[in-house]
Amino acid sequence: MTDNRLVDRFGRSINYLRISVTDRCDLRCVYCMSEHMTFLPREQLLTLEEIDRIAATFIELGVDRIRITGGEPLVRRNVLELFRDLGRHQGLRDLTLTTNGSQLERFADDLSAAGVTRVNISLDTLRADRFKAITRIGDLDKTLRGIDAAIDAGFDRVKINSVILRGHNHDEVLDLVDFAVERGIDISFIEEMPLGDNGDHRAGDVHYSSHRIREDLAGRYRLIASAERTGGPARYYSVEGHPATRIGFISPHSHNFCDDCNRVRLTSEGLLLLCLGQEHSVDLRHVLRAHPGDDARLRQAIIDAMQIKPKGHEFDLDSHTVLLRHMNMTGG
Ligand code: SAM
Ligand code: SF4
Repeated sequence: MTDNRLVDRFGRSINYLRISVTDRCDLRCVYCMSEHMTFLPREQLLTLEEIDRIAATFIELGVDRIRITGGEPLVRRNVLELFRDLGRHQGLRDLTLTTNGSQLERFADDLSAAGVTRVNISLDTLRADRFKAITRIGDLDKTLRGIDAAIDAGFDRVKINSVILRGHNHDEVLDLVDFAVERGIDISFIEEMPLGDNGDHRAGDVHYSSHRIREDLAGRYRLIASAERTGGPARYYSVEGHPATRIGFISPHSHNFCDDCNRVRLTSEGLLLLCLGQEHSVDLRHVLRAHPGDDARLRQAIIDAMQIKPKGHEFDLDSHTVLLRHMNMTGG
């Protein structure tokens, strides 16, 4: 039974859950992590069964879209089993994945068979030396092979996510769109959000606005604004002459997208975060482990949590760190 009960104090219906299945990653992107990270001890993580149980409860409560993210979701041991379990839930319309692509060559076909509908792959640059500099340890070729594997695996949509940083990769926005257009896939440009202490790296120093990116693209591509909204921060455009590619702009600084927010996030240790840019949370791992098998209590904890969903984020580019949480805790 689909019974949409997840409505917050501001009348927003919540139908979208993002789940971070691990805080670990095989890369160390400068805007996401510091070079030397301490990761959670494994016993603090939700088990895959616990994640599926929480997901099932959200689905009962009307959530029909789930995105799996991290950290790097594909480095979590046995993660395919989770995708297979999630893919079996009636009522889930959209099961999606955000990944850095490094393991996709190996996983793409199985993910597609498990019911994953769409995949977002992070790719900030097409130059191997820059890729190494931004990710600190990554190998561009592996990610490119992962993108090819995703395209071949037959997902409904494949999308590139590019975080654009002034002085690091802002001169590649046209090349990145060419890359997407040539392959008939989508691309979203993301403005960096100031999360966590990433050492010397500061979002405010490298900010490159979506507005600037649109100006950069204008010489080669005509973008046509689309009415499509996902309830998230992205604004989408179609590209004249290239119907297979849409371009998204995720602009937390230039656009306030909170009014029609439809989403909440589950961290790998089981905290239900009500807003990416605020600390309001409920510890669902505690609810699960303190009351094993008590489905009603879990359900009620989720319903009650909607009452503390804040009105919006308060990202501030001028302060070094707004939130202590790194992006790998929440998965973006
Ligand atoms: N490891 C996977 C990946 O890189 O796609 C999934 C997790 S990653 C945290 C999800 C998305 O968040 C990626 O597209 C990444 O580029 C983006 N991201 C990470 N840190 C960010 C930040 N500080 N501001 C904006 N986007 C960020
Ligand atoms: Fe890993 Fe993704 Fe964060 Fe990069 S953005 S360090 S790939 S979790």
